[in-house]
Amino acid sequence: MEKKAILWFRKDLRLRDNTALEEALARKRKIIPLFIWDPDSEGGWAPGAASRWWLHQSLSALAADLEKKGAPLVVRSGSTLEILKQVFQESSADLLVGHRRYEPAARKVEEDIQLSFRDSGVEVRLLSGSLLNEPDEFLNQAGKPYQVFTPFWKVLHALPWVFDSHGVPARIPVPQNYPAGESLSALDLLPLPDWTGGMKEAWQPGEKGAWQRLKKFLDEPALSYAGDRDRPDLEGTSALSAHLTWGEISPHRVRHELIRKSQGQTPKAQASLSAHLRQLGWREFAHHLLYHFPDTPSQPLKPEFRRFPWRKGAENLRAWQRGRTGYPIVDAGMRQLWESGWMHNRVRMVTASFLVKDLLLPWQEGARWFWDTLVDADLANNTLGWQWVAGCGADAAPYFRIFNPVIQGEKFDPYGNYVRRWIPELGEMPAKWLHRPWEAPADELSAARVDFGKNYPNPVIDHSQARDRALGALDKMKERVG
Ligand code: FAD
Repeated sequence: MEKKAILWFRKDLRLRDNTALEEALARKRKIIPLFIWDPDSEGGWAPGAASRWWLHQSLSALAADLEKKGAPLVVRSGSTLEILKQVFQESSADLLVGHRRYEPAARKVEEDIQLSFRDSGVEVRLLSGSLLNEPDEFLNQAGKPYQVFTPFWKVLHALPWVFDSHGVPARIPVPQNYPAGESLSALDLLPLPDWTGGMKEAWQPGEKGAWQRLKKFLDEPALSYAGDRDRPDLEGTSALSAHLTWGEISPHRVRHELIRKSQGQTPKAQASLSAHLRQLGWREFAHHLLYHFPDTPSQPLKPEFRRFPWRKGAENLRAWQRGRTGYPIVDAGMRQLWESGWMHNRVRMVTASFLVKDLLLPWQEGARWFWDTLVDADLANNTLGWQWVAGCGADAAPYFRIFNPVIQGEKFDPYGNYVRRWIPELGEMPAKWLHRPWEAPADELSAARVDFGKNYPNPVIDHSQARDRALGALDKMKERVG
């Protein structure tokens, strides 16, 4: 009798370097590829609007790739556990193979599955495939989770790395009886009305798009990454984040290609390639922290920050979300996010800092907005990023270090090209005033056709006053903690 495996796709929407697929093939199973849409199982972090758009496109690319291999993707929606039970019953498969996830709700689903299939004759194999290391196997000398990045990365980086990939066969063997699935459009992942034009222009979700991005990055930007990575006006970073979030490319593959590229390069280029590898280390660190501190998507890792005197302010929150704070670098970032579903890392730090320090609004509000609008929304990376900026996370920037949005703009967007791209109202402003347009003389403003309060807002707050207020809030928290 033919033996069958369910190949369960989750955040690993790829065929190459897919250890779960390799395992099913090595064990001579006929394979049924399955994806389950189960937003209710995500513990309040169901994919946001931008992520759903990406997921639709990525599943559609995966389904097309699988079709070419003769193994159509079965898509179903509903409770993961119930659907798995149904599919096993319908197919009489004896192996469930997939990759682990690290978010608390996803881990709970995995535990339920292990429990439910125990003694059922179905073997459940959830493998490593989305990270370079497994958080439960990687602790410091005291047997505790790392909370500081540098020692974490030093140890992780020094581990012997093995990259063993067998490629994808021309045909994936499938059983004669194939369970039925739903159509992708039945999942209702796409927004109505369709506002995704900017995302369509910017991205090609799916495995092919991921490889193209990697190749484009390695061809040039990777060699000067260390110098250019903080410049939002350049294409100096890989833009691989959403592809990594959805598992369209494996971090092992990215690491492998970075190391391969490094051979024979100048020391400067090698330093750039290793700086990029280090960023993958931050991704690892973020997942490690989320795994060991599962409350952190909503609670600060540093408990004293539970007593921080955050303000309320729907109007300011909305101005920030819409890119109408009157600070050009902040507004450009927020508009880039809204239109393209992505924002440059430096600008993520600046916009986040503006929310939590200048506007004194809780970091959780910002994290939720990013969650809904980022195509790369990732619970581990987003939580780390927000807690880092808010000063309440592991190895975080201290709260008292407050970004000045004018200086940040002038330093990292020196010619103003980034701001001009995303804020057309400021398109004709000379670079000298671009990051502080309110200081420009009246004749320069009128020559640039900037009419404050009409086509571009006045600053919602004075930065130096906001800075003092934020430091006062920090003192207040300290008093409360005692
Ligand atoms: P590159 O510079 O090319 O880096 C390569 C890869 O390393 C990235 O694709 C990403 O997977 C990883 N990486 C880089 N920087 C970080 C970092 N600081 N922390 C963790 N991983 C990193 N990243 C997400 O993937 N999803 C998020 O939801 C997310 N939210 C963030 C929120 C805030 C407030 C901040 C400050 C950062 C956030 N980041 C998030 C991290 C970082 O901004 C993005 O990973 C990066 O901008 C993606 O661009 P890239 O692929 O060109 O990065």
